Amino acid sequence: MFDEIKKRYLEMFESEKLPYVKCNKCGYVFYYPRDYCPKCGSKDLAVLESKGVGKVFSYTKFVNKDGKEVIYGIVELNEGFRMYTNFLDEVDIGDEVVVKYTIKDGRKIPIFSKNKPKKE
Ligand SMILES: [Zn+2]
Repeated sequence: MFDEIKKRYLEMFESEKLPYVKCNKCGYVFYYPRDYCPKCGSKDLAVLESKGVGKVFSYTKFVNKDGKEVIYGIVELNEGFRMYTNFLDEVDIGDEVVVKYTIKDGRKIPIFSKNKPKKE
């Protein structure tokens, strides 16, 4: 079951969809793939697709080994789950962000960027 969830996640990343898991028993939602609900222990889970819109919950900046500044933190998605991610641009707590995709080690992975306001 765990392998199935992980496989599903990788497939969804490749088609630029953001997955999350919902417990069919208690309704708890979470991101990090597991084969049981961390809240009630049920194995009756469903992998769903998030709309990929959320808010910055926390972030930190550091310089990586290549001397490049990296912004890393937690996004709280509108569906109610939180996930660790990198940010493409400068963010502040509470900013609205949307999922984008970047290539890392030959695979697409989610990254978040500030939602550009639409022109009036
Ligand atoms: Zn549950």
